[in-house]
Amino acid sequence: MRERSEMSAPVVDAKPDPAAVPSRTETTAGNYFVSNYPPFGAWRTEAVAELESVLQQPPRAHVPLGLYTHIPFCRKRCHFCYFRVYTDKNADDIRAYIDAVLAELAMYVGRPALQGRKPRFLYFGGGTPSYLSPDQLGVLSEGMKRLMPWDDAEEITFEGEPGTLTDHKLRAIRAMGATRLSLGIEHFDDHILEINGRAHRSKEIFRAYSYAREIGFPQINIDLIAGMVEETEEKWREAVAKAVELGPDSVTIYQMEVPYNTTIYQRMKAEGRLAAPVADWETKRRWVDWAYREFEKVGYTVTSTTTVVKDPARVKFLYRAGLFSGADLLSVGVASFGHLSGVHYQNLHDFQPHIDAVRAGRLPVYRAMRPTTEELYTREFMLQLKLGSVSAAAFASKFGQDPRIQFAAPLATLRQWGFLVEDGDRIGLTRDGLLQVDRLLMEFFDPKYRSGRYA
Ligand code: SF4
Repeated sequence: MRERSEMSAPVVDAKPDPAAVPSRTETTAGNYFVSNYPPFGAWRTEAVAELESVLQQPPRAHVPLGLYTHIPFCRKRCHFCYFRVYTDKNADDIRAYIDAVLAELAMYVGRPALQGRKPRFLYFGGGTPSYLSPDQLGVLSEGMKRLMPWDDAEEITFEGEPGTLTDHKLRAIRAMGATRLSLGIEHFDDHILEINGRAHRSKEIFRAYSYAREIGFPQINIDLIAGMVEETEEKWREAVAKAVELGPDSVTIYQMEVPYNTTIYQRMKAEGRLAAPVADWETKRRWVDWAYREFEKVGYTVTSTTTVVKDPARVKFLYRAGLFSGADLLSVGVASFGHLSGVHYQNLHDFQPHIDAVRAGRLPVYRAMRPTTEELYTREFMLQLKLGSVSAAAFASKFGQDPRIQFAAPLATLRQWGFLVEDGDRIGLTRDGLLQVDRLLMEFFDPKYRSGRYA
């Protein structure tokens, strides 16, 4: 992970020209968060054969493996949520889904690209993985371990919604091996939680957090969102103060965005509004910056555009590190996306088609893409820039071309806008640049991927 000192003595070699920076003020609808490249819109059903083909080959040498499992159930749908989640499934549906996920995993472990491999890191995401009962978690985790043992895993992340986390449930999550509990807190104010459609309230946050600490999870991360509907300066500061007081191992702070398939966007459309009823981007960046400064005062370090960490020497996030550096990621479950032997893929979006495909003995993959080496280079460079800075030498050695040459044009643009920090081997971003990195990364996109929706 990047250390704070790498950005504390910046060398900016060009005068900023703020007038030249295209502005984005109001929050309008759309996905801005860059989590992969080329964008999902460029992945195609016809390319699924590419995945089938690489699965028949032995794995690439020395590439670590991660395993992602998607649990698409939630108690309620949050108004800002853009994931495919289900709030109406009963115990039989959930059992059918767990069986499908296990059958899907069984199909992969039989292929040469995965045979005999063990994951170095695992991630249970959603949706709400903690929606599952302790019994359901037992069936899922025991079944998975039989197919692909986890005994070599260094990190197992489990996402939890505070209102679902009883003492008993948390013990079951720890017993299945979770080392990193990620709590979707988002805010501490009950009115804000309610108006944004969250299922939990602040009382449940403190109860779940204290149980989790008692049980002894090695790492607890909490998620916050800056700029939810009806957020104010005062409420944000109170939320940050409460988060500081809890003292989690890491905090992930997202800036509220309003993708098209959210309840908030549906309301905007019905009312004929273009701007979302949330804070503008400049305000959200200021709020996140303020939060980072509060955490820094008590010894935390900013380790990415969205994260502060209490003790970076101890607290790692292998899932993100793997994802950002080209590790294989075997993903199972509805709508999940993965990367195996150089091929991106995403599963079918809907619950029943996913189950039906697996029951018919087919991989439930909906679309895929084999990026070129240049695209893989761009992907890794952009994603690692989200950590604050990258080593030019490391990229030159991996891809055979210095990033200062490979990305001369977009780097010149960032330099001209005053966001670039160049310090010896390191290429990084100023704090202001880091807080708006997703829009800056568009400069690195191949022009053919710049138009249209990211998702
Ligand atoms: S808990 Fe998360 S996944 Fe579930 S509806 Fe809310 S935002 Fe979406």
